[in-house]
Amino acid sequence: MSAERTVYLDYSATTPVKQEVLDTMIPYFTENFGNPSSLYQQGLEAKLSLDHAREQVASLIGADPEEVIFTGGGSESDNWVLEGVAHKLKKQGRHIITSKIEHHAILHTCQYLQSLGFEITYLDVDQEGFVSPEDLEKAIRPDTILVSIMFVNNEIGTVEPIKELAAVAHKHGILFHTDAVQAVGNVKMDVHDLGIDFMSMSSHKIYGPKGEGGLYLRKGVRIPSFIHGGAQEGGRRAGTENLAGIVGFGKAAEVAEKNIDWHIKHCSELRDYLLDRITAEIPDVIVNGPHDHSLRHPGNANVTFRYIEGESILILLDQAGISVSTGSACSSKSLEPSHVLTAIGVDSTTIHGSIRFTVGDFTTKEDVDYAVDHLKEVVARLREISSMSRPE
Ligand SMILES: *Cc1c(COP(=O)(O)O)cnc(C)c1O
Repeated sequence: MSAERTVYLDYSATTPVKQEVLDTMIPYFTENFGNPSSLYQQGLEAKLSLDHAREQVASLIGADPEEVIFTGGGSESDNWVLEGVAHKLKKQGRHIITSKIEHHAILHTCQYLQSLGFEITYLDVDQEGFVSPEDLEKAIRPDTILVSIMFVNNEIGTVEPIKELAAVAHKHGILFHTDAVQAVGNVKMDVHDLGIDFMSMSSHKIYGPKGEGGLYLRKGVRIPSFIHGGAQEGGRRAGTENLAGIVGFGKAAEVAEKNIDWHIKHCSELRDYLLDRITAEIPDVIVNGPHDHSLRHPGNANVTFRYIEGESILILLDQAGISVSTGSACSSKSLEPSHVLTAIGVDSTTIHGSIRFTVGDFTTKEDVDYAVDHLKEVVARLREISSMSRPE
């Protein structure tokens, strides 16, 4: 069965590579294939391209270029900071603080560290997904070595008070990391003003290639290398650089910086239009995440449809060419309810009826209309055959 149209509403899972990004990358597979470590002209040119990409990424986040290290993606950056700080400071303490709504790249690394004898405190969040600086302050112990709180939640879009949280950690002399994979390009930021020590980034969430990312490492802060080998990235991340990927990430960062005002306005208008239509035209829905849209990812809408399963909605929408997600892409293959929706208190009878829609730069109003028209039909159809208890 082929659908009339394809409508991609899952920009928080990944984004297409923009044409100008791809055009910038292509020569690095062929004529500009030099190794940045080589000492002849071709290598020096590759090194200059690497430096330029570093400046582009640094500019987007307000960092100095020397503070940006390229990695193999957001998950690697998250693993590196947690394991690196744990390893470096284990004699000083073995306690790490994070939140209950982190991405699995953080949560599963924390579980791994627990298996090595570290203790992890998982902070609660309120009903909109916010971590409270007071709760953080109360959780700090003399043996706390790191606080890691995500900048923007990938399921419900909550923008956390990172500056306040970092200030609490620093007041106690504790290092602060944020997973900013969903924040970069979606929230204006200046890492120096935020006062953080480490920040994880990913290229494929900002219209760059997959398998590429970065770590902001504040000047003067050191962690052990995660990948040992050559002297690439100042000896901090070995391995011949993925130059095409890095150049693509750099270009994507430049485009994101240039477009950020337009991007935020475009996405939030379409997201609000989507939510307005859903809440006006479909009964028994609950919108999850922050109600104040200035504290929410501009493209994120997360909605619970009562009495039906999100999985069934996803499958029927897919048949109409519409891509959405239930919870996070990582947990979508399991039947475990989303840890984020559980943490904000969505009750267990309705939690399975939740769908995440994320709009992006290529989304149009026609896409949203097509999706909502189908959604209305799909929800009505599923509710008719639903066996879940309903009042009346
Ligand atoms: C996508 C995502 C990651 C993982 O990034 P990859 O580059 O895919 O490894 C980490 N954290 C958050 C919040 C994400 O949304």
